[in-house]
Amino acid sequence: MAVSNPLPVPSLAHRLMRWLSMLVLAVSSLELQAGQLAIIIDDIGYNLDAGRRAADLSGDYTLAVLPFTPHGRELAERAYRRGKEIMLHAPMSNEQHLPLGKGGLESGMSRETFLQVLERNLADIPHVRGVNNHTGSQLTQEEEPMRWLMAELKQRGLYFVDSRTTAKTRAQAMAEAAGLPNRKRDVFLDDRPEPAHVASQLELAMATARRQGSAVAIGHPYPSTLAALEKIAPLLEKYAITLVKASLLMPSSRPSVNAGQCLAPPLSLWAETPPLHDPFSLPPALKWLE
Ligand SMILES: [Zn+2]
Repeated sequence: MAVSNPLPVPSLAHRLMRWLSMLVLAVSSLELQAGQLAIIIDDIGYNLDAGRRAADLSGDYTLAVLPFTPHGRELAERAYRRGKEIMLHAPMSNEQHLPLGKGGLESGMSRETFLQVLERNLADIPHVRGVNNHTGSQLTQEEEPMRWLMAELKQRGLYFVDSRTTAKTRAQAMAEAAGLPNRKRDVFLDDRPEPAHVASQLELAMATARRQGSAVAIGHPYPSTLAALEKIAPLLEKYAITLVKASLLMPSSRPSVNAGQCLAPPLSLWAETPPLHDPFSLPPALKWLE
């Protein structure tokens, strides 16, 4: 009579190994889900002390510098030496008719004048990797100047971040059409500068980065914003967020999953492993990871 072989009982070591590989998988999956956040600090150039404080922040921040300001060049140099990324914060005409200062890109400019002003702005600020708009609620609605802008930035190998100062902005769409690396601002950190508001916007930015995988936040060198950023470390840890320079979040330079960071096979190959959809509601056994 044929006796079927009993199924092998997994040894303790075997089960331990399997449990350990599941844990490695869970941890690396959490790492993949953790977010990347770029924080851009706008309006650098007028206030020397605030600008120095922003340049001296610890971490991968990006400073957006206004052209032809009393301290723009000096602060861009200082921030660059301290490992920050530099953007041109290009003033663009707005619906409120707020003054733009020197270097303003205005509605109604001819293509030639527009490109001349842009070129001088870019020449004024050293180490520029990308551009975002200062005000601009009027100009960013206008497709023609946005097309001129994006074509020029494309030629120069720069990226564009749409600050989204109006819901009607066409800037990002035009950057996309030009094939220019681009993002939009997800969160304004200090649309109201009260410390409690800045703190909750910072948490919102981190939650957005977790949800989307990455996010772009924009703040200003206000005392409340700088104070919050100087104490950001525990918050980054709490949300498992990595601060990155804005250029790292441009679609063309997004790190690929195959770039050697994914150590475990995809979840779909591990049918027995419960998928971790929401890093904020870990199964009880993994709670210690929080
Ligand atoms: Zn601005």
